[in-house]
This record gives sequence, structure tokens and C-alpha cells, in this order.
Amino acid sequence: MLIDVHVGEIVRLRKPHPCGSTDWQITRVGADIGLRCLGCGRRVLLPRDEFRRRAKCIVAPPEPPAGNRS
Ligand SMILES: [Zn+2]
Repeated sequence: MLIDVHVGEIVRLRKPHPCGSTDWQITRVGADIGLRCLGCGRRVLLPRDEFRRRAKCIVAPPEPPAGNRS
């Protein structure tokens, strides 16, 4: 699966984290992909290749900027 991700997006990984959550928020995009577990808040860095193997799908686009709701 070819994945184009952006900071703030939520992705689902194939394997659940030990805390039980499979959803992670992208915190950094570069040579490595930074992820924060939505279950326990743990942060990890995965090399792009590793991330591509583990990612299953993108769950949600980035949230709109705060204060942009009427
Ligand atoms: Zn976790």
C-alpha cells in the first residue's frame, strides 16, 4: 500500500499496540514517520518502509484549524 500521509492525520496499523489501540496520529513526516498512539499517548518513530508495511488505512483527515467552526 502506497501511503501519502500528513501531520495530524490518523492512521490505523495492522497490529494493535499493547494498550489495545490500533489508531495513531501522525506527528512528523520525514525520513521517519512520527506516530503518537491514541490509546496511551506513546510516541514512536518508524522508518518509512516499516510504516508502509504496518499501516492499514488512513482513518481521518487532519482536523480543521481550531476556531474555524461557526
Ligand atoms: Zn498505545
